[in-house]
Amino acid sequence: MRKEIDKIPCLYCGEKTDNRKFIINPKAREELPCCSTECMQEVRKFIDWDSHNRMKLYIMLFAFVILNLIFIGFNFDSRWRNLPLLFMATAVYFYPLIFTRYIRYQGLGIKKTVKVTKVISLLIAAFSIILIVNY
Ligand SMILES: [Zn+2]
Repeated sequence: MRKEIDKIPCLYCGEKTDNRKFIINPKAREELPCCSTECMQEVRKFIDWDSHNRMKLYIMLFAFVILNLIFIGFNFDSRWRNLPLLFMATAVYFYPLIFTRYIRYQGLGIKKTVKVTKVISLLIAAFSIILIVNY
């Protein structure tokens, strides 16, 4: 009897696929398939970029959180107190590496997850600019 192959979303584009020729993590318990060579190449690029840039994002976020705490600690009463939020949103916009486990990207696919993250970070950035301008 042939085993039914479930359709799982491609890790990159999110399209459901029963193709198992392009598995990014072969032999893992939860296999993460891609639908095509192109998508697999994109995932490889993303993983490579992620591994080189994740630290930058963490350092930036850490610095901005500290800045924010300093502002709160000194009861900094100025429009610029909302600046750390703008910095954080900008950092996430340029480094939208929100998940540490790649299986989390499977729901939407890396492509859409990155897009949605960028849109949300832009909205937060716009919100913080409004707070700064209207202080
Ligand atoms: Zn795909």
